[in-house]
Amino acid sequence: AEPGAGMPPSAPALPGWEHVSSGKVRDVYAPADAGPWAGQDVLLLVASDRISAYDHILSTPVPDKGKVLTALSVWWFEQLADIVPSHLVSLDVPAAVAGRAMICRRLEMYPVECVARGYLTGSGLAEYRDSGTVCGLPLPAGLTEASRLPEPIFTPAAKAELGEHDENVSFERVAEMVGTDTAEALRETTLALYTRAADIASARGIILADTKFEFGQDPATGRLILGDEVLTPDSSRFWPADAWTPGRPTPSFDKQYVRDWLTSPASGWDRGSAAAPPALPDDVVQRTRQRYLEAYERLTGSPLDLT
Ligand code: ATP
Ligand code: MG
Repeated sequence: AEPGAGMPPSAPALPGWEHVSSGKVRDVYAPADAGPWAGQDVLLLVASDRISAYDHILSTPVPDKGKVLTALSVWWFEQLADIVPSHLVSLDVPAAVAGRAMICRRLEMYPVECVARGYLTGSGLAEYRDSGTVCGLPLPAGLTEASRLPEPIFTPAAKAELGEHDENVSFERVAEMVGTDTAEALRETTLALYTRAADIASARGIILADTKFEFGQDPATGRLILGDEVLTPDSSRFWPADAWTPGRPTPSFDKQYVRDWLTSPASGWDRGSAAAPPALPDDVVQRTRQRYLEAYERLTGSPLDLT
């Protein structure tokens, strides 16, 4: 991607680790030769405070967002461990990234974004309006924005390069990419995880409209392992249940203020232009930070310990 259209700023240097790559939000490190994890098949995943909206990484970070994403993923890994093991190995990370980083088993990742949807919106709704299907799956007529689906569906996407959109694909395409047995395991596991997580969220007044998992294979055992981040506001659409009205877009739990402000006259930004969005005003940053913390607290039942 060209600079400004999404190249992340440089990742911090960390003792014992070598930076290997950065995505929109996370910086990935491998063990350095002299470090405590030298020679082990692990990665350090560091969640920054970067926030993206409308496919841009914003120039203004949201303080503590990376800590929320990390702590929430860790909490979910525990809730889901009886369905599938996770890649989490240790939270004993360099002090500079304490709370926002985890040491994970290095997996051979499947190049599939394993999306489950219980409600219709976003790219799913767009395809449905075109063809009555989502990822080739036929759905009943008469559904609209934010409709609840008759049952959760597996709507995979092929992972795209940084700055590109992931592409929705059919189950058959996934089977061509990874083999039928693995494709079936990905579908079954994704739907089981979604169902468990949606039940937990629903008991706390939150609708899990859709979410994305990434899985990999443990190189040592060949087992399917849950990787990446899970069930965070960045990988999921969380809707406050009391704000859900089919037929109308439901504001997402986390980015509502950011999106509202960016598309308001106050920002002076033209979403259709190639220009990068402007810096966020402090009150938008603070309210967004509160939303992330509130999502964590509502889902887990406890406030995030930021000490
Ligand atoms: P995006 O900015 O769209 O999220 P991204 O998903 O490529 O792009 P990040 O999420 O910021 O980037 O970075 C995490 C990267 O690490 C992803 O490419 C993800 O697939 C990969 N990853 C996650 N867990 C593991 C693991 N256990 N082993 C190997 N790679 C992993
Ligand atoms: Mg990612």
